[in-house]
Amino acid sequence: MKHELPQLNYSYDALEPYLDAETMRFHHDEHHRGYVEKLNKALEKYPTLQDKSTEDLLSNLPAIPKEIRTAVRNNGGGHFNHSMLWKILNPNPQKSPSDELTVEIDSEFGGIEQLKNRITKLALSLFGSGYVWLCLDGGQNLRIKCMQNQNCPLSTGLRPLFLMDVWEHAYYLKHQNRRQEYVSAFWQVTDWAEVSKNWQEALSSGSRQWREAG
Ligand code: MN
Repeated sequence: MKHELPQLNYSYDALEPYLDAETMRFHHDEHHRGYVEKLNKALEKYPTLQDKSTEDLLSNLPAIPKEIRTAVRNNGGGHFNHSMLWKILNPNPQKSPSDELTVEIDSEFGGIEQLKNRITKLALSLFGSGYVWLCLDGGQNLRIKCMQNQNCPLSTGLRPLFLMDVWEHAYYLKHQNRRQEYVSAFWQVTDWAEVSKNWQEALSSGSRQWREAG
């Protein structure tokens, strides 16, 4: 079984004027496709790994043969991260988290605006390429995390809920070096319904793991 490039649920220009069609086309058709192809190439000699999801691969990197571990980290990460990104972005986004997640965000960060400010600050100070993530940790607490390159929180035992791509390829065609402009645009098309759904799933998969472990 080969990994496949997922289709976008909207057209390339659907996120205009915030994220432009040319960037979306390049980002999805060239960058994301490249990660998928290189991941498949890396797994060619390892049939037993080919049926595993990117989630499984990234959650167990030490179990990946050393010869392809870096390729799986980079390209499996690139595939998983972008697949998640296309769903976080939405032309008709829900502007606020669910009531339950709002309660959690209020108690952890003091409110949604404070959470967004903290993520924005990290996005603007991240040197080089990477993502700012919102995750759930093993104690079911919300955590903000900055990670370089295509590294994925799954590899450090965290469940990813939200990500902001701050690689230059995500914005350079339209915004050039004006990362702040891009970050503001990104918030305009962030779908908090999707983040809330990811949180619910992470909560229930966490308690399932604990039941199984207990
Ligand atoms: Mn990207």
